[in-house]
Amino acid sequence: AISNDRLPQHVRQAIEKYVVACSKKRARGDGRRKVNNGQYACTADCGYLTKRAFDWKRHEETHQPQEFWLCEICRTALHPKMVLVSRRDKLLPHIKNEHPDEDADDVVEQSKQDYVADFKRRCGFCGARFESWDSRNNHILAHFDGKLE
Ligand SMILES: [Zn+2]
Ligand SMILES: [Zn+2]
Ligand SMILES: [Zn+2]
Repeated sequence: AISNDRLPQHVRQAIEKYVVACSKKRARGDGRRKVNNGQYACTADCGYLTKRAFDWKRHEETHQPQEFWLCEICRTALHPKMVLVSRRDKLLPHIKNEHPDEDADDVVEQSKQDYVADFKRRCGFCGARFESWDSRNNHILAHFDGKLE
């Protein structure tokens, strides 16, 4: 996407590598929950199941991340490190542990990357084409709820 070209090349490359790694992830549960049942199934076939649409969406984003935070302090340090996560609540513990003297909200804001990620554009059930990540999720949830053929 054209908007991604505005990012520094090393940032773009780090995110692209991260996206590829996420798409290859398999059999990686949420970790917090031992219960694995419900009508909403992972579309990457890792075996994850849940009863909650919110958890399903968050799980789908572990395979197809849509948002990116790259720790700005680590990135611009004397010996730079690329600390990249796809959820705000995953960057916060890093800041608390590694940069306890910094204002966490400031670091989070500076670390958010303006990167537009792609995703699988076709429905695996009916072949419909999606325009946005949200419309994709709502459409697939409707299949699981039996509201679509
Ligand atoms: Zn999965
Ligand atoms: Zn950091
Ligand atoms: Zn469909």
